[in-house]
Parts: sequence; C-alpha cells; structure tokens
Amino acid sequence: MYRYDPRNSPFRMLRYLPRLPARAESKVKRLVRRCVDGRKIIRGYYDLYDIPLQFLGYFDVPQRSDPYLPGGGGVPTLFDELERRGIPYRLWDYRTPESRSLDELLDSIGKDRRFLFLYTAELDALMHRAGVLHADVGAKLRQYEKAIGALVQKSRRSGEDVLMYVFSDHGMTDVRNTIDVEGAIEQCGVRLGRDYMAFFDATMARFWVSGIARDAIIGVLDEIEGGRILADRELQALGCLFEDRSYGELIFAADPGTMIVPSFMGRERMAAMHGYDPNDASSKACLFTNDPACPLPHSIMEFKQLLLDAAGRSG
Ligand SMILES: [Zn+2]
Repeated sequence: MYRYDPRNSPFRMLRYLPRLPARAESKVKRLVRRCVDGRKIIRGYYDLYDIPLQFLGYFDVPQRSDPYLPGGGGVPTLFDELERRGIPYRLWDYRTPESRSLDELLDSIGKDRRFLFLYTAELDALMHRAGVLHADVGAKLRQYEKAIGALVQKSRRSGEDVLMYVFSDHGMTDVRNTIDVEGAIEQCGVRLGRDYMAFFDATMARFWVSGIARDAIIGVLDEIEGGRILADRELQALGCLFEDRSYGELIFAADPGTMIVPSFMGRERMAAMHGYDPNDASSKACLFTNDPACPLPHSIMEFKQLLLDAAGRSG
C-alpha cells in the first residue's frame, strides 16, 4: 500500500512535526485522514495503520485512484473496459456491508444488468482475527454456500444462462511465530529515521539505506530466523524488481507463518496472515465456476481478461 516517495507524499508536511505523545499522534492522524479524504487526494482504499507520524511523510500511496470507479486513471480496470464495450454492469465493493450486497446481488439476477460483481473482505477479516481453521470460518463458508446456492437457483428459474465465478485474491496461513525486525536492528545501534528509512509491513521489511548502516542491517537480517533477504533475481522472477526501487532497495521477506510484530501495520499479532511467498502452498487462491469453457488462470493478472471474455460470450 506504501512506497518511498518523500517528494510526492501527500503527508510530506508531517516530516516537520516534532515527535508527539501517542494520544496526540492518533488525534493528528484523524485530522490528516480528514484532510486527505476531504480534498480527495486519495480516492481508493488506504489505511494509516500504525505508521509513525514522523515517517509517514516519506511514503506515498501508489493507488491514488479508486479501481471501483470508472476512469480512475492509470491502468484501465475491468469496469473501464465494461463501460467501453457498453456492457451494463453493477458492482458492490467494500463500502457496502456484505449481507446487504448479497441481498441486492440476488435481487439483481434476471434484471437488466449483464455483469454483476460483488467484492467482500469479510472472510479475510475473520480469518485474520480467528485463524484459518476456526469454527467461525466454517460457519462463514456455509453462509456463502447458502447465498451462492440461492443465486444458482434464481438464475436457473430466470431461464438465463448465468455464468458464475467465485474467487479469492490470495490464500492465508496461521501465524505460528513473530519477529521484531526493528527491535533487532536497534539493538546494534542503528536507528530508524536517523541512519536508515524502512517500511515495516506485517510480512516484509523494506529498506532504503546505504553505507555502513546498510552493512549492519544486512548482518542483523541474516541472523534473524523466520525470514530472509530477497535477491534481485528472485524479485525479478516474482515481477517486483522495480527500477526506481521505490518499494525497497533491500527487501526482507518473512517466512510463511511468521509475522513481523510490531510493524507499521499494527502492534498486535494476528491469528492468520497473508502476503507471503506466492509459491507457498498457503498462498494459493481459489476459483469456482460453473463455466465449462473457463480457462485455468495461472496468475491473478489473468482474471480481468477471463471475466471480460466471459462477459463477451454470455452476451
Ligand atoms: Zn487481509
């Protein structure tokens, strides 16, 4: 969600703020949020999480536009393409509570919209909170089974050939241990803000640092059990070796099941997490469909085309 860009950061003024006590910091954060949202500087989903205020000004939110609104700018989205092709669609995103979205989706079957898209993050939130195999997760899946069953029933009754795709954007794994990366670095006398800049995600620590501080940090990271530094060729293979290094000059990735705590995303350990090596079994996403002509996608980036092709075929 964040990349290093002190020049264009919408929060850059905060760099001149003195260090504040925790309570004042959360008050200022609410003010910052109101200001950025009010001026519509960032239209898409973002969160300030636990990013320390004095470092927030070094980072920018790369996705300023809202991918759920047409013409958001940047890469044309699925919805831009539907508009361009004149395919009437309706979508429900994270702004609508899931139960209402599901009710309205069911109600829309057989009506004039040809393409219906529902996004929900409730299963994601529940798994983070409870763990992948918790009984509540089973109950949630049964709830989805019922809702999807009702959609299938109604679409059959409507007499139309309704193609359905149920998919996730990532897997999830239970957190088995935690590591304090910033704490380990500080122990060798190298301090964040003074000697180096970093963004501590829940599963990655991304650094912008040079000279002896860089050598010291590499030494510390090499000693930490539960993660490793990613070599450039690995980053290249994963499609994340960015030329400007704005996502990290040095990237440390936690092993699946290990969470960085504390991080800029939060001070508490969660029951389950995602954002690990995509080749790990727990990172696998899923796709269920009643479309016999649906190709097997190998990457999440194929989903846009897959759905557009289906929309074209069911016209
Ligand atoms: Zn999540």
